[in-house]
Amino acid sequence: MHCVLCDNKKVLKKQATTVKYKQSGLDNVTLQGVEYYKCDQCGEEYFGFGDQEKLNAIIARVLIFKKDPLNGKELRFLRTYLGLSSAMFAMRVGLTKETVSRFENNKFPISKTLDVLVRSLVANKLPDRDYDFHDWWMRQQGKKVKRIILNTDKNGWRLKEAA
Ligand SMILES: [Zn+2]
Repeated sequence: MHCVLCDNKKVLKKQATTVKYKQSGLDNVTLQGVEYYKCDQCGEEYFGFGDQEKLNAIIARVLIFKKDPLNGKELRFLRTYLGLSSAMFAMRVGLTKETVSRFENNKFPISKTLDVLVRSLVANKLPDRDYDFHDWWMRQQGKKVKRIILNTDKNGWRLKEAA
């Protein structure tokens, strides 16, 4: 690639670097192997985050399975991951925009109801073919999860595991 800010004619050299993922709004996310270019004429830096949908999905998945309650920054990250403005999100969860903003800015601790609700909304968006979130949540409550598992192949359906 070329620098878009100056008239440097040289092709910028592709490098890899480690950065804090500040764009996520979270303080504790480190990205390694990020595509990186630096213009040797004007000093401008360029970063390539690749498939950001996938990147954010991985982080969202970590957050919905975290043991501790969500904090405001994590709530904001998950709301954004859901593609909802604070007004739309507030409508979805039956709160005012101002209340959501207070939660996101850590003015109030996030209620347990909202914590579970936002995790559930995110779990419904993420690919989950094996009740991962449901089972995790049940175990958090100290409940046993019993499943009936069947598999199928050319011979048809067979019971693999009974509750
Ligand atoms: Zn430049």
